Amino acid sequence: MSVTVSTTSKNAPLLIHEGLPYIIDCRTDKKILWKCEHAKKYKCHGRLHTDLNNVFIKTVGDHENHAGDSRAGPIREYYD
Ligand SMILES: [Zn+2]
Repeated sequence: MSVTVSTTSKNAPLLIHEGLPYIIDCRTDKKILWKCEHAKKYKCHGRLHTDLNNVFIKTVGDHENHAGDSRAGPIREYYD
């Protein structure tokens, strides 16, 4: 499994994994912890860990509030 790293419009690192964008949450000595770019907007719990060379380690949590498509958020309640 691989990830792609680019930059946001604000020049911050942006990581793409399975079509979902992540921004840096925090760095540790061994890892970079990324959080879903929609973490705030959709209260998303999707997180991702890479090592310091942006090599994928694992994902944590789900993108339950937007399911990879930002348009899915507001209409999701009709399906629950
Ligand atoms: Zn998400």
